[in-house]
Amino acid sequence: MITVEEHLARILSVVEPLSSLQLGLMDAHGCVLTEDVVAVAALPGFDNSSQDGYAVRRDDVLGASESSPVVLPVTGDVAAGPASPLRVQPGVCVRIMTGAMMPAGADAVVPLEWTDGGISSVSITRVPDVGAYVRRVGEDVAAGETVLTAGTVLGAAQIGIAAAVGRSRLVVRPRPRVVVVSTGSELVEAGQPLSPGRIADSNSPALTAAALEAGAIAYRVGIVPDDPRTLASTLEDQLVRADVLVTSGGVSVGAYDVVKEVLSRLGTVQFDKVAMQPGMPQGFGTIGPDSTPVFGLPGNPVSALVSFEAFVRPALRKMLGATPLERPRVRAVAAKTLTAPEGKQAYLRVLLEVKKGAYVVTPVSGPGSHLMAGMARANALAIVPVGVERIAAGDPVDVVVLERRGR
Ligand code: AMP
Ligand code: MG
Repeated sequence: MITVEEHLARILSVVEPLSSLQLGLMDAHGCVLTEDVVAVAALPGFDNSSQDGYAVRRDDVLGASESSPVVLPVTGDVAAGPASPLRVQPGVCVRIMTGAMMPAGADAVVPLEWTDGGISSVSITRVPDVGAYVRRVGEDVAAGETVLTAGTVLGAAQIGIAAAVGRSRLVVRPRPRVVVVSTGSELVEAGQPLSPGRIADSNSPALTAAALEAGAIAYRVGIVPDDPRTLASTLEDQLVRADVLVTSGGVSVGAYDVVKEVLSRLGTVQFDKVAMQPGMPQGFGTIGPDSTPVFGLPGNPVSALVSFEAFVRPALRKMLGATPLERPRVRAVAAKTLTAPEGKQAYLRVLLEVKKGAYVVTPVSGPGSHLMAGMARANALAIVPVGVERIAAGDPVDVVVLERRGR
């Protein structure tokens, strides 16, 4: 038996961050930037109005008030869009829209709300400061300024600033491509009729979803029967599009545990007993000409998902160049007594709630590694380390928060 930490350390010593690639902006969303993004030009690129109103020379409206408005002729209109050659001469003004370029000569904008909204002439009741409601060239970003630094995760706002400074492509670590294969001659594609002894394949949908949630590109190959030749040829075929292979099932000591048989032959895959519950049998190594990492996860559905959390997700995060590799943990109080098997790190499926300002966990499932409904009710995994078999109600426990999200 090896520990969870030892198994993870071996995986992380093999898996490397993917090489950087230039990707289109939307493909780069969610990835880690590996270049600094420098603005070539200033932002805003020109003085423009932050309000709908009137571009004026402030001197022309001095003294304007509710009781004695200043009336100015309106000599034109300037909307957001291609610049017009308009110039505001002394004693007149120009109607201006938000985002429109400030006409030469004007030094302030009078918001529409301070006027009667006139078209050919306008009555103005307040005096703006010089520069009022003008967004100055470069006040957001100066030409030559670094707006994003290498290492940044590209969320919505980061994609926005990249586009704003004119970038349509960014150099990032790409998303790892994960190929997911279920093994088992008992498996049937979900939705298809079940004959006696057969079950729906829940691992390939769940693991594909987990890979997507971890930031990967995931390909669900689906079901391969317990036939060594079919499995070997499937894996070999899939290698061309895989940065990582994930199989489930067939890694224990049964007579038809083909994954063990095939992977042991194809590459450097090693099968270990890891001191954890669920998820004790684990296969990991590399196969193929590019030494593609392959995870042989156990077949029981909860074991497969917990194993993904413990080992595959950190590996995918490392490939993405993301940190931290592991999910956030919080300390919570056990609402009920928690029990765990001797000599193994237990992952208990729990509901994590905030009660009176404190994290509290309640078990929502037994420990069976086939209990998928309990896994689906859980929003966290309580971690009971090796050497602890019981956590009394009211005592603290470490909890991994499983956030569910799309991408
Ligand atoms: P195995 O490791 O192949 O012996 O599988 C262990 C248990 O998990 C067996 O009860 C299998 O039927 C079940 N199992 C294996 N693969 C899947 C899968 N893809 N979906 C649902 N259950 C599975
Ligand atoms: Mg099997």
